[in-house]
Amino acid sequence: MSRRKKTRIVQEPPLFKQFKPAGVPARILKRINISVGEYEALRLADYEGLSHLEAAKKMEISRPTFTRLIDRARNKIATALIEGKEIFFHGGNFKFLRDLIKCMDCGEISRSKNVKKILEECPYCSSEEVVYLNQQFRGRQGRGGRRRGGGGRHGRR
Ligand SMILES: [Zn+2]
Repeated sequence: MSRRKKTRIVQEPPLFKQFKPAGVPARILKRINISVGEYEALRLADYEGLSHLEAAKKMEISRPTFTRLIDRARNKIATALIEGKEIFFHGGNFKFLRDLIKCMDCGEISRSKNVKKILEECPYCSSEEVVYLNQQFRGRQGRGGRRRGGGGRHGRR
């Protein structure tokens, strides 16, 4: 009997999609993928300071699964820092609870109450050039938000 991978609940999309060592051209860098679930495990335990049990509950997974996720995330980050690799947050089976909306005019980030809520314009400057950050993260995502305005995809190389 094979066990199905459970969807990991992720509070909101990462603010940044990738990191790279300074001064090294991207074309010669090796890439390391950290799944969105691994990112969330790291954020909850090492950034927010939750216990593994509390963090596992937030992600709606078992504590052993959580421990595996965070161990993988830490190992990948250590590898990237030491060997100089480009880190991408990418993939995995996850669902965002909320979305972050970035204004391409003033740079402010707004938080939506849930991932289905669509903001028509930036609440700070009323610009319509807003980008929904959940769109940048591929994976077997539940239903994502939609992007409006001419924001285009950023982080492109
Ligand atoms: Zn704005």
